[in-house]
Amino acid sequence: MKPFLENPIETLAGVGPERAKLLRAEFHIKAYGDLLQHFPFRYVDKTQFHQINSISSDETDIQLRGKINSVRLIGQGRGMRLVAEFSDGTGVVELVWFKGIKWVQPNLKQGIDYVVFGKPSNFKGKFNMVHPELETVESQQKKVGTALQPVYPSTEKAKAKNIDTKAIGRLMNTLVSQVKGQGHIAELYGPDFRTKNHLISREEAFVNVHFPKDSETLKKALFRLKFDELFFIQLRLLKLKLINQNKFRGAVFAEVGEMVNRFYSECLPFELTGAQKRVIREIRHDLGSGKQMSRLVQGDVGSGKTIVALMSMLLAVDNGYQAALMAPTEILAEQHFKTISAFLKKLNLHIALLTGSTKTAERKILHQQLQSGEIHILIGTHALIEPVVQFKRLGLVIVDEQHRFGVEQRAKLWLKGADNEVPHMLIMTATPIPRTLAMTVYGDLDTSVIDELPPGRKPIKTLHRFDSSRQKIFDFMRAEIANGRQIYTVYPLIDESENMDYKDLTDGYESIVREFPQPKYQIGVLNGKMKSQDKDYEMQRFKDGKTQILVSTTVIEVGVDVPNASVMVIESAERFGLSQLHQLRGRVGRGAEQSYCILMTGYALGQEARTRMETMVRTNDGFEIAEVDMRLRGPGDMQGTQQSGQPIFKISNLSKDGQILAAARNAAIDLLSDDPKLEKRENALTKHYLIQEMKNRPNWARVS
Ligand code: ADP
Ligand code: MG
Repeated sequence: MKPFLENPIETLAGVGPERAKLLRAEFHIKAYGDLLQHFPFRYVDKTQFHQINSISSDETDIQLRGKINSVRLIGQGRGMRLVAEFSDGTGVVELVWFKGIKWVQPNLKQGIDYVVFGKPSNFKGKFNMVHPELETVESQQKKVGTALQPVYPSTEKAKAKNIDTKAIGRLMNTLVSQVKGQGHIAELYGPDFRTKNHLISREEAFVNVHFPKDSETLKKALFRLKFDELFFIQLRLLKLKLINQNKFRGAVFAEVGEMVNRFYSECLPFELTGAQKRVIREIRHDLGSGKQMSRLVQGDVGSGKTIVALMSMLLAVDNGYQAALMAPTEILAEQHFKTISAFLKKLNLHIALLTGSTKTAERKILHQQLQSGEIHILIGTHALIEPVVQFKRLGLVIVDEQHRFGVEQRAKLWLKGADNEVPHMLIMTATPIPRTLAMTVYGDLDTSVIDELPPGRKPIKTLHRFDSSRQKIFDFMRAEIANGRQIYTVYPLIDESENMDYKDLTDGYESIVREFPQPKYQIGVLNGKMKSQDKDYEMQRFKDGKTQILVSTTVIEVGVDVPNASVMVIESAERFGLSQLHQLRGRVGRGAEQSYCILMTGYALGQEARTRMETMVRTNDGFEIAEVDMRLRGPGDMQGTQQSGQPIFKISNLSKDGQILAAARNAAIDLLSDDPKLEKRENALTKHYLIQEMKNRPNWARVS
């Protein structure tokens, strides 16, 4: 027999074929079980009453308690409405009905205490409620278990067809009464596990999340359901990690040899920061362990990740292996190539560059030199994971600033290892993500954080200015240039194909050329449509100080390093997301001078855009910015977690449920350390559900 919760939704009383279609289309509800997982997004506490004199205009549903002063009918025919004046001693609101007047009117009695529930709206300075719920205090008090009323998410389309929160509540009532006490909701853990983790039964959790007995039970119900959701994600990631570690041997880099030592004593022009040293130690530990390393290094822009990458690669070379560094764009790959070649000049290593624009003839030679082992370090773009690129003995791959580096790419890289060995993997990102999200997205990787900037950097000053103060900004730019500084002006380019954006860029360029005339000033321009040699040429001129202002789109976003550039002006800053603004800002503040980031916007800003600007002005801390970003956009939209279709989380919210996540992760770690293969009898339920989950859910958590 089919499990009860798999019954199609149209077989539930109150759901016909029409509604079934709507539920499916609007909420992905196909079966009973899906409905059960359509969770309330908030609860209205029916024991709390608002006072009329404290109602404000943007209130959602509220509850009032008071008496009816008068009832009257206004207008006639189709325009007729029923209006009751309702007072709670602090003020008066009008209750209004357009429909069902003949049912409502006889029930409106003066002198009786009523409870009214609805959404107030402001009409000519007075508040009213259209079609409120109304019942006598006496009848409300007779009901049990209604103190916390769930509010369900709905859509405009569904509401138009009368599937609003109340209708969903009624369907839920029908379903839950059939589920209660019938054993349809399977338990997922053994009893000991439940006790240890303070989990109420799964059935009790489902019943109470929809019909909370009281707020205490609701809390436990929410904890249980969120725990389940987060626990199985963690269990799966940790299990994957365990399997990978046991399956693949990684090369052992036991030696700290000539290259590392000489680099340290002869080439390194500065002292490493404490954080860099710590992370290098963590990497060295992995590389010497014999297990394959999969490590993520998070470090804010400018924290010095390149050196960490470089020293790891030298360790590979010292142990007779080749290393590869992969960057997301040609500009970056070339910059890495130049920086690294310059750093390693004295060591006489063979370092090569491979990108999409490497000429065929040159490419052939490269391929050969890689296979013969002549090349020690290969730097490039995606071009280096193509199957034709074969190494003699690849021991380490470093992936810089890649957010779209999927499982397939990773697998391709694995194939490049020598004799059964999988190359070690180091993934570097300057996009700090909140800890909770990192645990979920990168849960199968070990992580290191470079949480310290090289000394001597002055924190960037960030200002938010409106378009009207443009002349002042130009004056400021002139003053900075007079002091020998250079300036980026950035225009949003959301979509490379949008001509509108190019117009903004071109107009901006022209106005800057007018304000900063030649020959006194030299201006460069950079955009994604330019040929890569042209981009390079412009970039190089800016780096060499031949241009003072670089007008650009976001192509300068990641990793570009010009220490003398101390001002960044971001135009239409409201069109950028927080993490992108933070990335862009990281292009300045790389030298010893005070740097500035100026966010230009129009006056009309939405609440969210204002929060973004305020956050940027307030802090330089990438992790803090990431937290705000996640709060604003929800984790589903954050970098690395996009997935087509349904949201990742049905009930958890990573920006609020960090503690539950930590509990779930720890529980998963404990469980696996006690029973790595989940063979014990008491873990049979958990194993069964894990297998089911793996079948049902795409592996969204793999971005690295
Ligand atoms: P990111 O983490 O953004 O990739 P980079 O590796 O490009 O940062 O480093 C930014 C700048 O800081 C570079 O010019 C680099 O040479 C310099 N740098 C890195 N580490 C140190 C250090 N410990 N002391 C001084 N400067 C450093
Ligand atoms: Mg970098």
